[in-house]
Amino acid sequence: MNVADTERMEALMLERGGALTEQIEEADVIVINGCSVREKAVHKAVSYLGEHKGLKTRYEGPVIALGGCVGQLDQGEIFKRAPYVDFVFGPDAIDQLPELVDRAKRGERHFVQAEFDKTLSYSTQTKVKKNKALAFVNIMKGCDKYCTYCIVPFTRGREKSRTIQEVLDDVAALVSQGVREVTLLGQNVNSFGKGNPNTAGYEPAELSNPIGKVGPRPGEENFVQLLYAMNRDPRLKQLKRIRFTSSHPLDFSDQLIGAYADPKEGGVDNLAKHLHLPVQSGSNAILQKMGRHHKVETYVEQMKVLKSISPDIGLSTDIIVGFPGETEEDFEATLKLLTEIEYDNIYAFSYSPRPGTRAEKLVDDVSKKVKSERLARVMKHQLDIAEGRYAERIGRTMEVLVVGLARNDGMLANSKLGRVWTGHTTCNRVVNFIDQSGRNLEGSFLNIKITNASGLSLQGDLIHDAGFAEGISVA
Ligand code: SAH
Ligand code: SF4
Repeated sequence: MNVADTERMEALMLERGGALTEQIEEADVIVINGCSVREKAVHKAVSYLGEHKGLKTRYEGPVIALGGCVGQLDQGEIFKRAPYVDFVFGPDAIDQLPELVDRAKRGERHFVQAEFDKTLSYSTQTKVKKNKALAFVNIMKGCDKYCTYCIVPFTRGREKSRTIQEVLDDVAALVSQGVREVTLLGQNVNSFGKGNPNTAGYEPAELSNPIGKVGPRPGEENFVQLLYAMNRDPRLKQLKRIRFTSSHPLDFSDQLIGAYADPKEGGVDNLAKHLHLPVQSGSNAILQKMGRHHKVETYVEQMKVLKSISPDIGLSTDIIVGFPGETEEDFEATLKLLTEIEYDNIYAFSYSPRPGTRAEKLVDDVSKKVKSERLARVMKHQLDIAEGRYAERIGRTMEVLVVGLARNDGMLANSKLGRVWTGHTTCNRVVNFIDQSGRNLEGSFLNIKITNASGLSLQGDLIHDAGFAEGISVA
C-alpha cells in the first residue's frame, strides 16, 4: 500500500511539472513516505531523515516532508527532534501534496495536515506512470478490524470503499494505457463494498463461510461481485491478471474460493492463481489474544478446499513471532501450520508493541533474543518448504510478466552475453532469465522454461517470445 501511495505522490508531483532525480543532493523536494506498522519501520524513516539533515541550512535547501502512516502517527512531534522537517502529512492528505509543497515553498514552516477525511464515501482515480504493465488500484481504505497488535485502524481511519462502477471505469482507463495486471488494494478486501448499495444487482448477493454470513450485508456491494464484474467488462478484455491484497481469514468467503475455479466451472478466468491470506499464528490461543476471531482449523479447511479447486495456486501469508505470551509450543504450532499449508512465501515479523493498541497493554514478555531466534527459525523452515515447492517447477514452462531488469545479474556468470530480466508468474513466483536480443522486455508476457530453483526464485530459459508482440514496450 505504501508503494502505491508513493507512486501516487510521484504522479501528482510529475503532473505539476516536477521531475524525479536519483541524486538526493539535487532535489528541491524530499518526501519520506514511512510505514508505522512496526517500530523498526518508524526508526528507519526517522534515521533516514537524520542522514539527510545536512542538505538543509536554516535559510536554504530542499522542502522536506514526512508523510504516510508515520506522518499520521507523528502529528508534528518530529519538529522538536528534526526542525529541518517542513511539514507532516497523513495518508488522507496525499492528494494535497502539491499544495502542501507550495505552502512550504512560500515559507510556511512546521505545519501538519493529518486530518482524516470525514466523508463516508471514497472516490479516487488511479495514477500510474506511462507505459506500465502493472498497476496498484486502491479499492478501499482504512480498517475496522482492530487486531489487538495493529496500528493501521489508527493511522488509516475507518473502512470506506469505492463503488464497483468507479473501479471498473478506473481499471478500463488503465487497460487502455497498457496496464495488463492490476493488484486491488485494501487492508481487508473482504470488507470491500460495506455501505455501498448494490443497486446494479451484482451477484453473488451475499457472502458466507463455515462461520456463517460474512463481509458486507446483503443488499450491499461485495468483493466477489467486483471480481465477476471485472471479468465480464468488455473494456477489460486485455487485462491478463487480477491480484488482490490483503484479506482477513475471518471473512474469507466460500464465494471467493469459488472465483478461483476453472472458468468453465464458474471461476473468474483472469484471477491470478495466487492468494495472500495473513494468518499471523498457528496457535488458537495466540490468535484469540490477537483479536483475529477465527480458528486455525477453519483456515486450514478453507485452504484445503481452495487447493482442491486450484491445485497450482501459490499461497503466501504474514506471520508475527513473539506476540505477548507466545510459548515455544505456540510457536511450534506456527511451524506446523506452515508445513501443512505449504506456502510459497511468507512475510514474518517480530512483534513490536504499537502505541494506542490493545496489545500494547500486555506485557511484552518474549525476550528480544527469543524473538530473533524464532524469526530466524520460521524463515529457515519456510525456505526449506519453498525450496521443495520451487524445485517441483523445474522443467515446466511458465508464463511470466516481465517487470524489469534483475537487480542481481549473477545468472550471467557462465554466459557473459545478454541481460538478466525478472518477472513473475500468475502464482506470484519470481522468475529470472537471460535475454541476448537487447530489446526492452518490460511489460511483456513471455514463456520461460524453468531450469533452476532456489527457495526464493526460479531461473529459466526464454523459449519463445510469441507473446512479445502482444506486450507493450517502454523503450
Ligand atoms: N491489513 C493487512 C495487514 C497490514 S499490516 C492484513 O490484515 O493482512 C501487515 C502485517 O504487519 C500484518 O499482517 C502483521 O503480520 C504485521 N504487523 C502488524 N502489526 C504488527 C506489530 N505490532 N508487530 C509486528 N508485526 C506486525
Ligand atoms: Fe491491522 Fe488487522 Fe486491520 Fe490488517 S486486518 S490492518 S492486521 S487491524
